[in-house]
Amino acid sequence: MLTATMSVDDYKRLLAELTTSGQRAFEAARDLEELEHARIEYLGDQRGKLREFQIALGTLPKEARPDAGRQFNTAKSTLTEAHDRRRQDLAPNATRGDARPADLSMPPRRQWRGSKHPVTLVIEEIEGIFRELGFTVATGPEAETEWYNFGSLNFPPNHPAMDLHDTLYIGDDVLLRTHTSPVQTRTLQKYAPPIRVLIPGRVYRRDFFDPSHAPAFEQIEGLCVDEGISFVDLKATLTRFANRFFGRRPTRFRPSYFPFTEPSAEMDVQCGVCGGSGCGVCKQTGWVEILGSGMVHPAVLEAAGVDSERYTGWAFGMGPGRIAISRYGIPDIRILYDSDVRFLEQVAE
Ligand SMILES: [Zn+2]
Repeated sequence: MLTATMSVDDYKRLLAELTTSGQRAFEAARDLEELEHARIEYLGDQRGKLREFQIALGTLPKEARPDAGRQFNTAKSTLTEAHDRRRQDLAPNATRGDARPADLSMPPRRQWRGSKHPVTLVIEEIEGIFRELGFTVATGPEAETEWYNFGSLNFPPNHPAMDLHDTLYIGDDVLLRTHTSPVQTRTLQKYAPPIRVLIPGRVYRRDFFDPSHAPAFEQIEGLCVDEGISFVDLKATLTRFANRFFGRRPTRFRPSYFPFTEPSAEMDVQCGVCGGSGCGVCKQTGWVEILGSGMVHPAVLEAAGVDSERYTGWAFGMGPGRIAISRYGIPDIRILYDSDVRFLEQVAE
């Protein structure tokens, strides 16, 4: 407590001590609440310590008051600045220096969100349907030997598909696979029946890049081998798949030929655009071809070391790119490979 008989020197000394201890108290405050307590203790209007010095100023000799008053004002501004500085440090999201506030009128940057390619979406949907039917997914190398790509699959020597004009050869015996079927042989060599696998992957043909052909494209293939597998299993499984994927539309099988299946069949689904009456999409036939299939040729089973007297099987292959084209109404196959974001955004899920 200050006394009424205090000398000017005592006043100045005590005021200097108060300034120092006040600055320390503000700096020591760990949060805004502690700082407020310190503020009331030193700068409070009613009982603050500095307030007492203001009152005591009036008890000093008149000639000493101007000098003491100046020191009082300095002490007050020093303490006020120390308090304000600490409050800025403790304030949440304190902004320092001359950091400019955010410009809220600025339009936001567009958010780019990645999405799956339409062909990937088709492959994943097909995989999902066959997974429910007990199939697992198998993959294999894109560079194959002639034997895996042709020989093991019952292609007779000098088959036109092996022609240099149709196949991309890397070396004498190594080529870029023309279909995913070599993975059938690799799977049969590796695992004993029963086998139910789905084989998606990229294949290569020596084709020009035009509206309906691409030198590299996706294929998806299925293989089922077990005891007692017949054409009934093939028809039932593929019909079920078509109903799930294309909706409940009529389907039909047409006899066909592939070296690695016997008998072979192409599967059509009724045109979804015209409902079977004929239109431009189905070339006036009322049907759209979706896949090739057939019973696995015994020579293919034997080539992979499977006993063809005991086991039978069926296989199919289709092009998810062509399915994506008809599903999304894409007029030119090259659009699938352009990576044009304006197109990809339209099919993004
Ligand atoms: Zn049609």
